[in-house]
Amino acid sequence: MAVLRLLFFSRKIQPNGFRWTAIRNELVFAAINTSLTGVFLGGLTALLNKYHLIRFNHEPARWWTILLEYAFYFVLFDTWFYWWHRLMHIGWFYTLVHKIHHFSTSPNVLTTFSVSPLESLVNGGFVPLFTAAVVVHQQSMPFIGLTTILMGFYVHSGYEFLPRWWNKTWFSKWFITATFHDQHHKYFRWNFGGYTTVWDRICGTMRPRYEADFDQIKARANGTALKPVSAAVVAILVAAFTAMATLWSMGFSFRPSLI
Ligand SMILES: [Zn+2]
Ligand SMILES: [Zn+2]
Repeated sequence: MAVLRLLFFSRKIQPNGFRWTAIRNELVFAAINTSLTGVFLGGLTALLNKYHLIRFNHEPARWWTILLEYAFYFVLFDTWFYWWHRLMHIGWFYTLVHKIHHFSTSPNVLTTFSVSPLESLVNGGFVPLFTAAVVVHQQSMPFIGLTTILMGFYVHSGYEFLPRWWNKTWFSKWFITATFHDQHHKYFRWNFGGYTTVWDRICGTMRPRYEADFDQIKARANGTALKPVSAAVVAILVAAFTAMATLWSMGFSFRPSLI
């Protein structure tokens, strides 16, 4: 228990950010939103399906084809998300579409679902539209699907588990962290990216103190000397994601079969 407390609490991005009222409101918004979003997204998918616009390649794909299709989705969604998100911060559009999601200035996993159904349609509508515009292999979809779900949870978790060097290597610094999106909720006018920091860096919308703050949060966690445990947690999560998506894409069903 003490280990868990140390492991999590020391990695809390905003240690004093907890508010009961925020959690209560988010629960209400999340409940309303999930039911309405099901109808909206279900409707969009049904419409695209009706005209046979959503198509998949059912041929077996090589691993690098899956990787390429995944990368293509990743880059396109990141661009879609960034620019819609910028738009959603303007005037009446903000009030109508995005305000609910900004109720929490210190996100937690519930914040992921605490969005207006219109916003869910904008963000969640990307996958149906993408599969209508591009014919990808069926096998690529589990990787794409899992990413859309897990990234939402991760960026709103309120905890930073990525290593201290994340923003210092030429490769990893282009990918966002939980701290990155947490600061979007806290400071509002910075860090609009959903997967990468690319558009924010290009457009000058990345919080200037983001990397310094990240270092500070990691320095706090470092004092707990639980690095091997936290490295193991990250490794297990990455391995679980890859294993689940691979099994799923190979046709393994997670549904229990009664026959
Ligand atoms: Zn926002
Ligand atoms: Zn958010």
